[in-house]
Amino acid sequence: MINRPRGTQDFINMELFDYVVHTMHLFLQRSGFRHIQTPIIESVDLFKRSLGLHTDVVGKEMFIIQSHGTDAEQVPLCLRPEMTASVVRAFIENGIDLLPWRVFSVGPVFRHERPQKGRYRQFHQATIELIGGKSIGYDAQLIHLLNYIFGTVLGLSCYELQLNFLGCLEDRALYKKRLQDFLQEHQQVICQTCVLRKDANTLRVFDCKSSTCQELYKKAPILTDNLCDPCALEWVFLQDYLHMLQVGFTKVPTLVRGLDYYNKTAFEFVSANLGAQSAFCGGGRYDSLIEQLSPKHSQPAVGAGIGIERVLLLLDVEKNKAYSSLQKPLIVCIPLKACYIPNILLVNQKLIACNVQVELLLDSSLKNGMKKAAKMMATHVVLLGQEEAEKNMVMLKDMVTGLQKHINLDVLIEQFSR
Ligand SMILES: [Zn+2]
Ligand SMILES: [Zn+2]
Repeated sequence: MINRPRGTQDFINMELFDYVVHTMHLFLQRSGFRHIQTPIIESVDLFKRSLGLHTDVVGKEMFIIQSHGTDAEQVPLCLRPEMTASVVRAFIENGIDLLPWRVFSVGPVFRHERPQKGRYRQFHQATIELIGGKSIGYDAQLIHLLNYIFGTVLGLSCYELQLNFLGCLEDRALYKKRLQDFLQEHQQVICQTCVLRKDANTLRVFDCKSSTCQELYKKAPILTDNLCDPCALEWVFLQDYLHMLQVGFTKVPTLVRGLDYYNKTAFEFVSANLGAQSAFCGGGRYDSLIEQLSPKHSQPAVGAGIGIERVLLLLDVEKNKAYSSLQKPLIVCIPLKACYIPNILLVNQKLIACNVQVELLLDSSLKNGMKKAAKMMATHVVLLGQEEAEKNMVMLKDMVTGLQKHINLDVLIEQFSR
């Protein structure tokens, strides 16, 4: 027996997954975001240039593809660890000039990390990007849209929108200095990890799990108190826009997002129901990323990534009216003898054209077929034997009431066409 690779999973029923993806698809498309697809394999350099050499993702979590043969010109390839860089590459490579470019894409991403509970080496993301939009109003549009999809459409339970503003790169540099001074002052108190992060990755000290550190950081300088005038104004505008759109949020000054290319808006949708890894969607502005990959294509941009598996964990199927309204009657078709297979195939085909789901059981005895139909939670069973075949009828059994009746084939089709 050969098993699936560690850290991967089989989806043996994609119904809910498809529902979530289709729902997002529908509302993103209505909001002007076009569906695109980029390759799952990309050159390693794309992520080295976009994420930075010193990030965990590039340093140790990439699936590098071993290339074969003697093709010396071949550039090293990897399985994409995230999707934003691919979208930006596609933007540059395809010479997109009608701006803003609003797009979304859904698919698997890969991380070569030690598999642990709730973490997979292959998982699914939706990425939503708006390239070539400078107004902070675009940020509000995106956040509002995501909130609408999560709350109103999908009806996700117990989540919160966390929001922060990182300012421009200059603000961040100045703030970093201030934070370093603060950490220097309290060097005796902070943990060893934070001492190391103080110089290498200063803003990440806020991710520290130590309660002593967390207690101290409550008194640390706050980024949004250290913004230049234009950024301070944009931060006020963003909050005003969201208030006007009735999007509730919590300000979290320590929310900095892992990557250096983020600036200004940073947000996460989190849920306490997800445990320690509580974010199921994160995003923000990345005005410098495109320039980083191709200076002459420089454009401001804002985007978000959604973890599909995590959204699925938060979906309360019972309460989700939109999902239950998609549930269609399930009709199981069973011929009473093998010689009526052609007749039942015809009935089956006619039912498929109706607004129902159909299952066909050709190998089962009547008794067995009925048992299977019950297991499948069928709403109806259609039986067909000699009498029915002669009179262009079927026997329709209602699995909920247990009642059964002869019914003309055309009447049956008529009944389920509604
Ligand atoms: Zn600024
Ligand atoms: Zn610490």
